[in-house]
Amino acid sequence: MTARTSSLPGQRRPPDRAVVVGAGMVGLSTAWFLQESGVEVTVVERDGVGAGSSWGNAGWLSPGLAVPLPDPAVLRYGVGALVDPASALYVPLSVDPPLWSFLARFAYHCTARQWRRGMAGYLGVNRQALDAFDTLESGGVEARTVVAPILASFAKESESAGLRGELALLSEAGQQVDFEVLSGHQARAEVPVLSERVGAAVRLDGQRYIDPGAFVDSLAKAVAKRGGTIRTGFEARSLHRGAGGFSVSGYGHEPVRGDVVVLASGAWLADLAKPFGVRTQVRAGRGYSFSVQVSDPVDRPLYFPLPRVACTPYRGGLRVGGTMELCDAGSPLDMRRVESLIAAARPFLSGVDWDSVTDTWVGSRPITPDGLPLVGRTADPDVFVAGGHGMWGVTLGPVTGRLLARQIVSGEVPTALVPFDPLR
Ligand SMILES: Cc1cc2nc3c(=O)[nH]c(=O)nc-3n(C[C@H](O)[C@H](O)[C@H](O)COP(=O)(O)OP(=O)(O)OC[C@H]3O[C@@H](n4cnc5c(N)ncnc54)[C@H](O)[C@@H]3O)c2cc1C
Repeated sequence: MTARTSSLPGQRRPPDRAVVVGAGMVGLSTAWFLQESGVEVTVVERDGVGAGSSWGNAGWLSPGLAVPLPDPAVLRYGVGALVDPASALYVPLSVDPPLWSFLARFAYHCTARQWRRGMAGYLGVNRQALDAFDTLESGGVEARTVVAPILASFAKESESAGLRGELALLSEAGQQVDFEVLSGHQARAEVPVLSERVGAAVRLDGQRYIDPGAFVDSLAKAVAKRGGTIRTGFEARSLHRGAGGFSVSGYGHEPVRGDVVVLASGAWLADLAKPFGVRTQVRAGRGYSFSVQVSDPVDRPLYFPLPRVACTPYRGGLRVGGTMELCDAGSPLDMRRVESLIAAARPFLSGVDWDSVTDTWVGSRPITPDGLPLVGRTADPDVFVAGGHGMWGVTLGPVTGRLLARQIVSGEVPTALVPFDPLR
């Protein structure tokens, strides 16, 4: 096979073979959509399928709520809360200059003006997000998305003003979410496990959810069934350009070769992408989850915005998740975070067996300081990145994969990906 030559935008010769690094929602979706265009794919994964953030997350497919993470409310949250291990947002006090430089950049983006700018960047992908799931479902991925509203609950109606204000801002920005305000009584009539503590709720209609672990497993099976190779236990250490394109090396393995490489390694993206001109830091925003048994089946995701707890129907029970811990992706699971999630959710839910906690999990959301993903070509025309989706990598994984595959094959940057230029 001859080596690929650098190609100008719009003049790219489609690659025959691609190597994707990372078997999370984003990497697997990219692999699947590359296959749609006839590209042969190998996915290399350090651990197992879904071993990163794509397994224990809340599984909400809610593009109507996908917004940049830095916003003025984060600053209002207060420095005291940031360093309190029981708080929903936690930054450990440590000497870590890159972390402090990340936080300074993040704070710079926490203004209304920057938020609107970032939001404009999300609109294009948000509009196409659910359609990309439909393509996967109709194209042979067996796991299913479930259509259901999200019910956001509050102790009293005045507490819902913040969420309603955010929905109004979203609508001004061009993203309409249909919602209805309910009394506590109406909310309990729809979801019996809510406790008497719930005095008001906002039902966000037109959303979906998945069992994220089952979905990525099914996506990996679909990629393999279509002739792709998934190499688990393969940690990509370095990329080298050679006569037959790029080779991706991993310790103790024969290098894997491809005409193009897609780096989709989640919170670890920056390590491999930096040599290719990607200067934006990607840090781990760690979140926790666990599952519990419930007395009455729950038919929709539940959200408690003030303590920032998200719950999702999960295998007959409920998955409870939340927190944002800005520390090293490899740090051990901190049970204090699980306990604070239980303490935060317990008053709002009756009929939950809090002694039945299983599947305790911590995962690393890939966070960027401007809250925008990194998707597209690097300084090398044959090396691409796909990641940095923070809170929304499950919702936006398939649309990212579809648009990036289009760019890789055609050489043209889809309009919706322009704001996510990895070289920004
Ligand atoms: C508590 C919580 C709740 C969430 N809820 C939602 C939600 O409801 N909806 C939503 O849209 N998003 C949600 N998210 C965010 C979502 O989980 C992430 O944005 C998404 O999973 C990121 O996917 P990814 O494929 O980019 O990364 P990952 O899933 O982390 O995949 C990256 C993969 O790359 C592998 N890897 C890393 N380095 C290498 C290497 N050198 N070589 C080979 N492999 C490597 C890792 O092992 C990993 O498997 C939530 C996150 C958390 C923590």
